[in-house]
Amino acid sequence: MAVIQHVVDEAHPVAGCDAMLTSLPRMPLVIRTADCLPLMLVDPVRRAIGIAHAGWRGLAAGLPLKLLAAFRHTFQSRPEDLLVAIGPAIHPCCYEVGPEFERSFGPFVQLRGSRRTCDLIGAAIDQFRRGRVAPLHIIDSQQCTACTGSPWYSIRREGQTTGRLLSFIVIR
Ligand SMILES: [Zn+2]
Repeated sequence: MAVIQHVVDEAHPVAGCDAMLTSLPRMPLVIRTADCLPLMLVDPVRRAIGIAHAGWRGLAAGLPLKLLAAFRHTFQSRPEDLLVAIGPAIHPCCYEVGPEFERSFGPFVQLRGSRRTCDLIGAAIDQFRRGRVAPLHIIDSQQCTACTGSPWYSIRREGQTTGRLLSFIVIR
């Protein structure tokens, strides 16, 4: 399941969703993460933006593809116009998972000796590419939140009580 909200005015702030879209200037969209993927999208042609908090459940539910559909539906965006940025998130170096991930993430689950890891960033990029976003329009921060010494908050490394990374995007 993936809930995507269209932010249409200042009077009705939204919360409790996986993703938000808007074409309103000066309306920042903000998410909080610690290991999950912050996804930020811009359509410079239609002047629209979006942000998403993508964990493994959201990615397994096709959240990137659903975001593209929501942009198309809401703003008539073309995927080839969209720019995508992926903020700091847990990378396969640190994301050890159980065998049940193989069903949802197939080629993005790898065995490294006795460890089974999952590449959520690769899975997200794959969905955007399948949705016809140009590979050169997708930027990954290449920052792993969970690596030892990482400056980012990580639930995997520090537990649930750790802080959260704020990501935001706004149209000036
Ligand atoms: Zn790592």
